[in-house]
Amino acid sequence: MAEYEYVEHMSQLSGDGGDDADVMCPVCRGANLTQTGANVILCPKRDCLRVNVMGDGITLADLRSNLAEVIYEHEQGCAGDGTGDGLKFVTREQFGITTLVGGCAESGCEHIVI
Ligand SMILES: [Zn+2]
Ligand SMILES: [Zn+2]
Repeated sequence: MAEYEYVEHMSQLSGDGGDDADVMCPVCRGANLTQTGANVILCPKRDCLRVNVMGDGITLADLRSNLAEVIYEHEQGCAGDGTGDGLKFVTREQFGITTLVGGCAESGCEHIVI
Protein backbone atom coordinates (compact mmCIF):
# COMPACT_ATOMS: atom_id res chain seq x y z
CA MET A 1 0.00 0.00 0.00
CA ALA A 2 1.40 3.37 -0.97
CA GLU A 3 1.57 6.21 1.49
CA TYR A 4 -1.23 8.19 -0.05
CA GLU A 5 -3.44 5.09 -0.04
CA TYR A 6 -2.71 4.58 3.61
CA VAL A 7 -3.63 8.16 4.43
CA GLU A 8 -6.84 7.75 2.49
CA HIS A 9 -7.59 4.49 4.24
CA MET A 10 -7.02 5.98 7.68
CA SER A 11 -9.06 9.07 7.04
CA GLN A 12 -11.96 6.88 5.96
CA LEU A 13 -11.71 4.91 9.18
CA SER A 14 -11.66 7.97 11.37
CA GLY A 15 -15.38 8.50 11.26
CA ASP A 16 -16.63 5.07 12.23
CA GLY A 17 -15.73 5.25 15.89
CA GLY A 18 -15.32 1.52 16.33
CA ASP A 19 -12.99 0.63 19.18
CA ASP A 20 -11.62 -2.61 17.89
CA ALA A 21 -10.98 -1.81 14.25
CA ASP A 22 -7.60 -2.88 12.99
CA VAL A 23 -4.84 -0.34 12.81
CA MET A 24 -2.55 -0.89 9.91
CA CYS A 25 1.11 -0.24 10.61
CA PRO A 26 1.85 3.31 9.45
CA VAL A 27 5.52 2.54 8.86
CA CYS A 28 5.45 -0.52 6.59
CA ARG A 29 1.73 -0.46 5.76
CA GLY A 30 1.86 -4.22 5.42
CA ALA A 31 0.43 -5.55 8.67
CA ASN A 32 -1.94 -4.70 11.46
CA LEU A 33 -0.47 -3.47 14.70
CA THR A 34 -0.90 -5.54 17.82
CA GLN A 35 -0.76 -4.65 21.45
CA THR A 36 0.99 -7.04 23.77
CA GLY A 37 -0.34 -6.86 27.28
CA ALA A 38 -0.93 -3.25 28.19
CA ASN A 39 2.61 -2.20 27.54
CA VAL A 40 3.78 -2.40 23.99
CA ILE A 41 2.26 -1.64 20.61
CA LEU A 42 4.18 -3.29 17.82
CA CYS A 43 4.12 -4.32 14.22
CA PRO A 44 4.27 -8.11 13.90
CA LYS A 45 5.58 -8.09 10.37
CA ARG A 46 8.89 -6.40 10.82
CA ASP A 47 10.58 -4.61 13.61
CA CYS A 48 9.51 -1.32 12.15
CA LEU A 49 7.35 -0.12 15.00
CA ARG A 50 7.59 -0.84 18.66
CA VAL A 51 6.24 1.74 21.05
CA ASN A 52 6.25 1.30 24.78
CA VAL A 53 3.05 2.76 26.14
CA MET A 54 3.51 1.53 29.66
CA GLY A 55 1.91 3.91 32.10
CA ASP A 56 0.26 5.97 29.41
CA GLY A 57 -2.85 3.79 29.18
CA ILE A 58 -2.74 4.09 25.40
CA THR A 59 -4.59 1.49 23.37
CA LEU A 60 -4.70 0.68 19.68
CA ALA A 61 -7.93 2.67 19.44
CA ASP A 62 -6.13 5.72 20.84
CA LEU A 63 -3.30 5.26 18.40
CA ARG A 64 -5.76 5.03 15.55
CA SER A 65 -7.54 8.22 16.53
CA ASN A 66 -4.19 10.00 16.97
CA LEU A 67 -3.22 8.90 13.49
CA ALA A 68 -6.50 10.09 12.05
CA GLU A 69 -6.08 13.41 13.82
CA VAL A 70 -2.57 13.91 12.47
CA ILE A 71 -3.75 13.09 8.96
CA TYR A 72 -6.63 15.52 9.32
CA GLU A 73 -4.48 18.28 10.80
CA HIS A 74 -1.94 17.86 8.06
CA GLU A 75 -4.56 18.02 5.35
CA GLN A 76 -6.11 21.11 6.84
CA GLY A 77 -2.98 23.00 7.77
CA CYS A 78 0.14 22.06 5.97
CA ALA A 79 -0.37 19.72 3.05
CA GLY A 80 1.75 20.84 0.15
CA ASP A 81 0.57 21.14 -3.40
CA GLY A 82 -0.16 17.42 -3.63
CA THR A 83 2.73 16.56 -5.89
CA GLY A 84 4.91 15.03 -3.19
CA ASP A 85 4.62 11.81 -1.26
CA GLY A 86 2.50 13.32 1.46
CA LEU A 87 2.70 12.19 5.03
CA LYS A 88 5.33 9.66 5.93
CA PHE A 89 5.42 7.94 9.30
CA VAL A 90 8.65 7.07 11.02
CA THR A 91 9.69 6.11 14.50
CA ARG A 92 12.35 7.99 16.36
CA GLU A 93 14.30 7.25 19.48
CA GLN A 94 14.52 10.17 21.83
CA PHE A 95 15.79 9.98 25.38
CA GLY A 96 15.23 6.23 25.33
CA ILE A 97 11.60 6.66 24.32
CA THR A 98 10.23 5.70 20.93
CA THR A 99 7.92 8.18 19.33
CA LEU A 100 5.92 7.79 16.15
CA VAL A 101 6.11 10.87 13.98
CA GLY A 102 4.28 11.83 10.81
CA GLY A 103 6.22 14.19 8.61
CA CYS A 104 6.04 15.59 5.14
CA ALA A 105 9.09 16.66 3.19
CA GLU A 106 6.98 18.79 0.93
CA SER A 107 5.64 21.14 3.58
CA GLY A 108 8.40 20.46 6.08
CA CYS A 109 5.91 19.74 8.83
CA GLU A 110 6.12 17.22 11.60
CA HIS A 111 3.38 15.78 13.77
CA ILE A 112 3.85 13.56 16.77
CA VAL A 113 1.40 10.67 16.76
CA ILE A 114 2.42 8.91 19.92
ZN1 LIG B 1 5.16 -2.38 10.17
ZN1 LIG C 1 1.69 18.58 8.28
